[in-house]
Amino acid sequence: MEATIITLPGDGIGVEVVSEGIKVLSVVADIFGHTFAFEEHLIGGRAIDKTGSPLPPATLQACQTADAVLLGAVGGPKWSDPGASVRPEQGLLRLRKGLQLYANLRPIRVYSMLKDASPLRSERLEGVDLIVVRELTGGIYFGERQEATDAVPKAFDTMAYSADEVARIARTAFELAEQRRGKVTSVDKANVLAVSRLWRRIVTEVAQDYPNVALDHMLVDAAAMHLLRRPADFDVLVTGNMFGDILTDEASMLAGSMGMLASASIGDTTSGVYEPIHGSAPDIAGKGVANPLATILSVALLLRLSLNLPQEADAVESAVVASLSAGYRTPDIAGAPGTQTLHRIGTTEMGDRVVAALQASA
Ligand code: NAD
Repeated sequence: MEATIITLPGDGIGVEVVSEGIKVLSVVADIFGHTFAFEEHLIGGRAIDKTGSPLPPATLQACQTADAVLLGAVGGPKWSDPGASVRPEQGLLRLRKGLQLYANLRPIRVYSMLKDASPLRSERLEGVDLIVVRELTGGIYFGERQEATDAVPKAFDTMAYSADEVARIARTAFELAEQRRGKVTSVDKANVLAVSRLWRRIVTEVAQDYPNVALDHMLVDAAAMHLLRRPADFDVLVTGNMFGDILTDEASMLAGSMGMLASASIGDTTSGVYEPIHGSAPDIAGKGVANPLATILSVALLLRLSLNLPQEADAVESAVVASLSAGYRTPDIAGAPGTQTLHRIGTTEMGDRVVAALQASA
């Protein structure tokens, strides 16, 4: 197939990890006989420096017509003044809005050889393989709000969802579950919130269209506990914007390192945006030690979800497993020095190991 992929390296280690993602995509194209055209554009801090805008119009236009977008990370100390009117993260929010990306998907898989990197006891982590589906464009972050002032002592934010918004994210979750272990856990606060009672009713209705998927409902406080007590029981967890924001960060700790976690943001009509969950890591930027695996795993999601190439996606994920199994580790997942026989390598070498594993399996 032919596809145009927009790359948005952004700032800090975003630049380093995206170039490993491109390297892997190029090898996938060679092995499987595809033609991927890459087009790099500006976003974030470097876009502000060059154009004055964190999302220049040319970037958004290119993303709107592309087949998929691969993003690194934005931000850094140079642009971190919270009082500034133009900030790098505005580029991300405008991109999500401009592409109508309403579903954020975050797979959490615990690799057996990295179990020691998690703060949880390793027996709890056996078999953890879940995906959080978070609604991204509605809910309390986008509802009517009032800021408190000296004259107005009360502040409020409003959590609102329409039935259509709930149905659309529920369908994303059920469709994913059909391709996985066939289980959806919908998380809400229906014992207190009217918006959650609507959420629960609509998710239950949508479930009728997916007879092969089992649905259960869980209150968000219980979900926070069960994610740590029995994380392997979850398959697809679907929830609203704010609950998802909190639960995805909690769930990411199961995997141990930020450098291992991929994400996808998708909508109905335009290309999806694929990115590691971590930021621009200014503390290690430019040192060549950033872990590129989160970005490479995001590339696997891109292949599966935007380009509909599941075999290629599986090949990339298997190549990551093969590299880890062979003992290759960037510093963030290497553990205490001297405890294991591992090969400590840098960003580009890790990309090279994944490429070599892909080629070996071709
Ligand atoms: P961060 O994710 O950049 O870093 C947190 C810690 O994790 C750091 O110690 C870093 O070295 C480490 N880390 C992150 N990714 C790693 C990788 N791939 N390999 C090895 N170690 C890795 O979060 P932060 O320090 O809070 O934020 C730094 C900047 O990134 C800020 O400007 C923030 O606004 C921005 N940020 C951007 C995004 C995004 O673009 N989506 C997300 C989060 C933070």
